[in-house]
Amino acid sequence: MRKIKFIIMTLSVVLCTIAANAQKRSNPFFAKYQTPFQVPPFDKIDTSDYMPAFLEGMKQQNAEIAAIVNNTVAPTFANTILAFDKSGKLLTRVGKVFFNLTEANTNDQMQALARKLSPLLSKHSDDIALNAKLFKRIKAVYEKRKTSRLDAQQIRLVEKYYRDFERQGANLSKEKQDRLRKLNEELSMLTITFGENLLAENNNFNLVIDNQADLDGLPQNVVDAASATAKEMKMDGKWVFTLDKPSLIPFLQYAKNRALREKIYRGYFMRGNNGNKHDNNDVVAKMAKLRVEKAQLLGFDSYAAYVIDDNMAKTPAKVDEFLTKLWNAALPMSKKEVEEMQKIIDREGGNFKLQSWDWWYYSEKVRKEKYDLDDNELKPYFSLTNVRDGMFHVANQMYGITFIKRTDLPVFQKDVETYEVREANGTHLGILYLDYYPNPGKSGGAWCTDFRSSGWEDGKKIDAIESVTFNLTKPTGDTPALLNWDEVTTMFHEFGHSLHGLFVQGKYNRTAGNVPQDYVEMPSQFMENFAGDPEVLRSYAKNYKTGEVIPENLIAKIQNSGRFNQGFITLEYLAASILDMDFHELTQAKDINVEAFEKQAMDKIGLIPEILPRYRSTYFAHIFNGGYAAGYYVYIWAAVLDADAFDAFKQSGNIYNKDLAAKFRKYCLAESGDDEGMVQYKKFRGHEPSVEPLLKRRGLE
Ligand SMILES: [Zn+2]
Repeated sequence: MRKIKFIIMTLSVVLCTIAANAQKRSNPFFAKYQTPFQVPPFDKIDTSDYMPAFLEGMKQQNAEIAAIVNNTVAPTFANTILAFDKSGKLLTRVGKVFFNLTEANTNDQMQALARKLSPLLSKHSDDIALNAKLFKRIKAVYEKRKTSRLDAQQIRLVEKYYRDFERQGANLSKEKQDRLRKLNEELSMLTITFGENLLAENNNFNLVIDNQADLDGLPQNVVDAASATAKEMKMDGKWVFTLDKPSLIPFLQYAKNRALREKIYRGYFMRGNNGNKHDNNDVVAKMAKLRVEKAQLLGFDSYAAYVIDDNMAKTPAKVDEFLTKLWNAALPMSKKEVEEMQKIIDREGGNFKLQSWDWWYYSEKVRKEKYDLDDNELKPYFSLTNVRDGMFHVANQMYGITFIKRTDLPVFQKDVETYEVREANGTHLGILYLDYYPNPGKSGGAWCTDFRSSGWEDGKKIDAIESVTFNLTKPTGDTPALLNWDEVTTMFHEFGHSLHGLFVQGKYNRTAGNVPQDYVEMPSQFMENFAGDPEVLRSYAKNYKTGEVIPENLIAKIQNSGRFNQGFITLEYLAASILDMDFHELTQAKDINVEAFEKQAMDKIGLIPEILPRYRSTYFAHIFNGGYAAGYYVYIWAAVLDADAFDAFKQSGNIYNKDLAAKFRKYCLAESGDDEGMVQYKKFRGHEPSVEPLLKRRGLE
């Protein structure tokens, strides 16, 4: 995951004066950092430093924008666009530290501060977006951009800023702006309602078991967890399964009682569609309708056209075309998977036809027979240090860069490792923080962010300070941290994001490395391919005790495991993506019957009854309560790109091919954001990405 960059914002209201006493101790945010490579002086930052720095940061940016707006000289690239692009330096500096630490190493004080800051910062941001005078100047530069002797980069920057404002309605008449504001308010209320209904529906259903025989087939740890849940709910002696994935999936996977599997799965797939007060059908219908109106107000045919215009894919038609290609490839495979499982049912004398609630149970049997990947067998080959050195080795072989451990840089948490990254010729490239283990102040999951983005200041390159946060298995006693396969690929994934950040070269803040949602995961997923490549595995997967290189049969198992259940995984994902596109490609703001709409959408593509879309309409939170409307496709779009990019290396016969690596670095990473994603990709690859390598990887070709 790549956390979204902290966006620079402005404010036209003076908030309040800075607390005078906080100024006596010198606030580290107010001066240039006096540390090696000017990394944040974590050891000198006190929680009380943040608020004054944020307030001063907003005030400074405010003054910078006022200076742009009140300039009596006619708008130019330099006095308007560039000045705006450079504004908010202090705000960015403090924001990068604060928001990274509220995820990586937080506490109650920091959380309270975050709640206090949130409305101030969103107001600050809104005030910029609605600053009509600022937009007027930007528009003036935009209209003359082609005749002002600007270079391609400058023109792109002007267009980006212009479009940012335009997409938020800056160009509309007063009445239309009022209507847009109303629509935004209504949509945001509906979003909240959708989420609240879904939460209530999640909690409305529990599968309570009081007969031990009904637990047949479940592993002990799953039974224990269900017993603990029952205790929490004051149902001692019983077992409770909920609709949360860690409870639901093991039940579907292992429970022998078929009727109970059906019961819990129905509970899951009927959420928001039960005709009670938490029903989401109306909410979805209203949102779909209002989004058409919003898109058309802003000059687009459909909401999907509005969203995707800003993405690499550019048009809904392009997305539809590629989803259809993948669909046609995955559908036969999923039918084969059904046949394979039906055979097991028949063999066991089941005497019934496989249904959607049987899928996990029988695919688990297939997995055991054909794809069993035992983490305990693998783990000795994946000590954390070996995996870390393995990913450094890959980057070194491809790009020539080296990683030098530093012990003199301040860290935000004692276990964090810091590395200086150097170019092949020894010059400094940037800094990398690696934070491996869970701690009470850390959010779950893994992500990459930066404490400073690479950029340019007064003609001088500013180097990136990247930071990767994990929640990996800890070392125990004398045993080093030994990772499971999922953790290994996670390390390579996040490392891929950090390389992207380190390599960025772009001149302007708004564009440098700033890639759309359907591009962001490409550099990271690209690196995942290396983790499991046989040649790369042989270089780093070595037994932590004996140094023995991972045996070939385990390499084969790792390779093979990537093909398990891929028909299902691909199809349920694509079904949801297509449903998302259908809702958002509506070109008429009309009332729809959500259930009928969904059925029609799925019938049209021939979804088999044994599989439901990964999310059905009334619990599709990504698109009705998250930022993925007309954007659920981005995950597989990025997968097509990463598989195609990696294929170039495979085809060349040299997994570390330096010439290809140099091209990939230049066009897809360093210059990313300098032009449209597809343009950059084609410069590297020579053609548009093909879906074939992904199909091959998933065994769907
Ligand atoms: Zn990612």
